[in-house]
Amino acid sequence: MAKKKTPYSCDFCGRPADASEILIPSAVADAHICSECVEHLDEALKEYRRELAGESKKAAGEASMDNVPKPLEIRKFLDSYVIGQDSAKKYLSVAVYNHYKRLAQKKNDDVDIEKSNIIMVGPTGTGKTLLAKTIAKLLDVPFTIVDATVLTEAGYVGEDIESLLTRLLQAADYNVDKAERGIVFIDEIDKIARKGDNPSITRDVSGEGVQQGLLKLLEGSVVNVPPQGGRKHPEQKMIPVDTKNILFICGGAFDGIERKIAQRLNTHVVGYSNNSSRAGIKKDNLLQYVAPQDLKSFGLIPEIIGRLPILTHLEPLDRDALRRVLTEPKNAIVKQYKKLFEMDGVQLTFTPEALDLIVDKAIEYKLGARGLRSIVESIMIDAMFEIPSSKTKEFTVTADYAIDKLKEANFETAIFN
Ligand code: ADP
Repeated sequence: MAKKKTPYSCDFCGRPADASEILIPSAVADAHICSECVEHLDEALKEYRRELAGESKKAAGEASMDNVPKPLEIRKFLDSYVIGQDSAKKYLSVAVYNHYKRLAQKKNDDVDIEKSNIIMVGPTGTGKTLLAKTIAKLLDVPFTIVDATVLTEAGYVGEDIESLLTRLLQAADYNVDKAERGIVFIDEIDKIARKGDNPSITRDVSGEGVQQGLLKLLEGSVVNVPPQGGRKHPEQKMIPVDTKNILFICGGAFDGIERKIAQRLNTHVVGYSNNSSRAGIKKDNLLQYVAPQDLKSFGLIPEIIGRLPILTHLEPLDRDALRRVLTEPKNAIVKQYKKLFEMDGVQLTFTPEALDLIVDKAIEYKLGARGLRSIVESIMIDAMFEIPSSKTKEFTVTADYAIDKLKEANFETAIFN
């Protein structure tokens, strides 16, 4: 390698040897390349390969359905991460499969398959986000989660609606082609519902205006996206993104929608049906009867509902489901802790009674599946702190141990503060 202060220079950029970290000579010719050029070339090569991979995937997607998982396979994949939620899984699997058919459709086909955006209604912490995330994992497409509550109509404080595509662009490394085939999960869609049943005469900052803005994205149009997100600035260069093939999955708890469903079912049953069908209605989980008109009564505008043709619901997780969430999914909480301990050469076990206790606490504190992790974390923190420095090879979490640790962690006070 050429030392500094030689008459040599880089034959790629002309940089003299003393301005470069090192100059690397060619093995076969009287030529040199500087370390800076090597770094640039490495970057350029990586970028080229990334683009090539993106392009070939795109080409494959457009040309055939060969590699697209069938609804049953999608469902099976979801099963290994998400407990229960049969109905939502079935709807999602079919919708995603049809989405791919749509992508594979020839441009000049006279039947235009419409976009199958999805709306999932279900209590918080029952797996809406998890389902969307898992789907994205399977499909290997850019995926982003955005919260509808931060969106506001243009001109108001908050984020412009287009900014939700900024996140998708970022997830796609600013590869617009990839982003245009991605999935956007819009969480808390119920929070942009119109307040009250009657359209407001005044402007509704966080409600109908946002829904109107969102409509444009859902139905498929070319949208100018601010690459850095937030508000659009006149000096910021916009990136046009076509939303035609972006799959939107919306989720929301729609607190209180059961009342709307009950009202509808009552009037419906009284008006058009006999008593036996009323008796068939299970009152404990009215969400399973959710229909587009209930979303309208809740405050979504009919145009938005029309652009979310797949409507499905999620069930509340009962004791049995929570118990399964702890141990069964591929990355179940218990499996994760076992792995953590295994890396220190320790075999970790939870007794069945300890697992029951964790579930009981999650139910008692109304924390649902989301609370399971914080409960386990409180139980395990001391062991995780001490065991790596000890000679322990096996560790069993019993119900008594769990109770002690929860007491020590002041779990009850911590939760309610
Ligand atoms: P939300 O319905 O509010 O979007 P999430 O999907 O974010 O709920 O669920 C929160 C966490 O609870 C998940 O990360 C997961 O660990 C757990 N969880 C919730 N529902 C399920 C389920 N059906 N199967 C497995 N884990 C679940």
